[in-house]
Amino acid sequence: MSITFWCPDAPTRTLPCRACVLLEKRGTECNRCETISEGPSANFSNENGEALLKALGLSLRPGGVIYPKDIPQLLQRLLVLLNSEDNRKHLMRAPISRPARISSPYGCEYLGMGTGDTQVVRRLKEIREILIYASENAHTVHWH
Ligand SMILES: [Zn+2]
Repeated sequence: MSITFWCPDAPTRTLPCRACVLLEKRGTECNRCETISEGPSANFSNENGEALLKALGLSLRPGGVIYPKDIPQLLQRLLVLLNSEDNRKHLMRAPISRPARISSPYGCEYLGMGTGDTQVVRRLKEIREILIYASENAHTVHWH
C-alpha cells in the first residue's frame, strides 16, 4: 500500500495507447488510453507517507484534502523542516536487519534499508512542489 498526493482539479491530457498511436486515432481515445494529470503528484510508501503527514501536522486518516487557504501554513512547516537537518531527524530511520517471520531452511532475514537525510529532503521537496503548484492554481491537494 502507498499514499499518493495529487491535485485532482489540475488539467488532464490523454496519453494514447499503442493501438491508438498506430491507428493514428486522435480525439477518439479507447479505454486503454490513459488520462494523466498535468499537475505534480507524489507517491510514498505508507510508512513514509504517514511520517510526512505527521511532520506537516495533517490527519493520519487514509485520505484527506488540503485546501488552498491552508497551504501557506504547510509551506512554512516545510521550510522549517528543509532549513535544518536537526528539524527533520525524526523523519530518518536507521537501517535494520532481523530474522524474517517466515521459516526457510536457508534462513531468511528482513532488511530495512532505512531512510537517510537525502531521501527525507527529496520527499519534502516533492510535497512542496505539489503545494506550490496547488497554491498558484487555487487547487486542492488530496491524499489517499
Ligand atoms: Zn487507445
